[in-house]
Amino acid sequence: MQELTNVSVEFMVFDQKFKVDIPVKTEPIHKIEFLTVLHPLTDLFVDFAVEKSIKEGKTISCKKGCGACCRQLVPITESEVYLLYEALMIMPKKNRNKIQQQFEKAINKLDKAELLELLEDINELTSEELRELGEKYFALGIACPFLENESCSIHHNRPMACREYLVTSPAINCSNPQKGMIDVMPLPNSISVAAAQLDEPLHSNYVRQVPLIFSLWLAEEFPDDSPQIDSVDMLRKLFSRMAKKQIKDEPNKEQ
Ligand code: SF4
Repeated sequence: MQELTNVSVEFMVFDQKFKVDIPVKTEPIHKIEFLTVLHPLTDLFVDFAVEKSIKEGKTISCKKGCGACCRQLVPITESEVYLLYEALMIMPKKNRNKIQQQFEKAINKLDKAELLELLEDINELTSEELRELGEKYFALGIACPFLENESCSIHHNRPMACREYLVTSPAINCSNPQKGMIDVMPLPNSISVAAAQLDEPLHSNYVRQVPLIFSLWLAEEFPDDSPQIDSVDMLRKLFSRMAKKQIKDEPNKEQ
């Protein structure tokens, strides 16, 4: 049996210091397994943000059965590519085939719309180019292949970007997003972005984040052979990146 150790982290969240003990394995683990640490951490940060929004009198509009945002361009980390692939591979054959076909249809649609190249270069785009690409992607109406009856069929394994995306504007606005019509709940810090920066690139085009819609193709094209990692070291790097971002965002505040 592998031993666990607690990593204590103190961090600023919306002007308040919080401390958390994160249990991690002392032995090296696979990067996919590290997502079992990252996903609860993401949920914790989201909980802080939800609490703050509610205190400010805002209501979270996202509910089970509303999958409008699941037609957006979803950036995921490279470890999540393989987690989604694993989740797909253990599904009953009938469901798996259906989802694989949906991935294929989506790629064909994106190819026809000449968006594949831009999606491949997602990490090179400016925020304005990324926003434009996101609008074009949404306009194609491609539902995430894991969306079933407007609910996520892999809810437990859903990517960090999906966990972090909540809105306080009316849900109806999400099906026809226009500039300024959607209020995305602000997060104290994004674990998904910090975690993506910890991943080694699969190949030169994929530096940090990859579109979810490429996950099946990527996992098959580049079978996972990443080395095992030290969880304590990864957590140290993760929080150090987040702290640097926080200092940059709030240059006049003491950390
Ligand atoms: S993984 Fe789940 S939550 Fe994320 S976009 Fe797909 S269906 Fe939606």
